[in-house]
Amino acid sequence: MPSIAYELARCHVCGGADTDEVADADEVRAEVEALWAFHTRRVAGATPPEKLLDRAAFSEPPPVRVVRCRGCGLVYRNPQERAEELAEIYEADAGVGDDVLRALFENQRRSYRAQARRLTRIADAAGSGLEVGSYVGAFLDAARSRGWRFEGVDVNQGASRFARAQGLTVTIGTIDEVPAARRFDAVAVWNCLDQLPDPRHVIQRARSLLARGGIVAVRVPNGEAYARWRDAAEGGRTAPIARAVLAHNNLLTFPYRYGFTLRSLRRLLRDAGLGITHVYGDTLVPVADEHTRTWARVEERAVKGMLRALRTLRLTPATALPWLEVYATVPRAA
Ligand SMILES: [Zn+2]
Repeated sequence: MPSIAYELARCHVCGGADTDEVADADEVRAEVEALWAFHTRRVAGATPPEKLLDRAAFSEPPPVRVVRCRGCGLVYRNPQERAEELAEIYEADAGVGDDVLRALFENQRRSYRAQARRLTRIADAAGSGLEVGSYVGAFLDAARSRGWRFEGVDVNQGASRFARAQGLTVTIGTIDEVPAARRFDAVAVWNCLDQLPDPRHVIQRARSLLARGGIVAVRVPNGEAYARWRDAAEGGRTAPIARAVLAHNNLLTFPYRYGFTLRSLRRLLRDAGLGITHVYGDTLVPVADEHTRTWARVEERAVKGMLRALRTLRLTPATALPWLEVYATVPRAA
């Protein structure tokens, strides 16, 4: 892997430089080891090494250090990888075969039914939509099944070509490649705002592409949940549960550039002229597969079930769940 250039960053949402440390370099290293040990214990003996690597390896290198903004609550890497390096990571076609993309498409299409259902309920009716970071097109397809005319935009050429082969419309590039005169009833950014070099620009651009009464929908890993569960994982009787919550929800080692919280997300959206109307706390979709030991599969279901039960019983706020989904629109009075 080539060496990575880092730079010190201010808060991307509020511009503040005042932070509290969430995890220092030693703590991040300990998390990397914990994540590796966690997955090693949970896969069956005959698992091919590359399958284990898939689980414990990272779409991004682990952070040097993680901090939380005192002004708006945003959790972020500081120092941070330079933006140009990020673009290279995500544009790279890692030579992924069609069979792998097909499996991803089928899996993600199932889980994206939930987002397609919620979006349709909140919007009252299906309409036109744009998904930023459409990847293999799984959400586009789930939305199509609900009557939406959704198209995508993504920097990943291989994944976009695969999506087009499924009869879906995808522009290869960033949201800036979408003509400024286009209008959509919904712009969705699922599971990628946290990785983008400039989320503020993407949200402002999304707002400018909205038709009257349109919705911006965003799903992100919850930085507040990372900080909260990582505190609990430090020690005490509940530490193993807290660590399992982090690992099963892909928060351990914080493999993201930004950990938005409800507060920082509200501010980011407000700055673009949008107000949040719906907040939904969620868990990561199930990740167990045929290589997962039976007890680990049961454990994953139990951990995610427990989190959802806490939410349903209102014993924990939606914002304490590992993933955060929000829906925003231009306030009527504005
Ligand atoms: Zn901030």
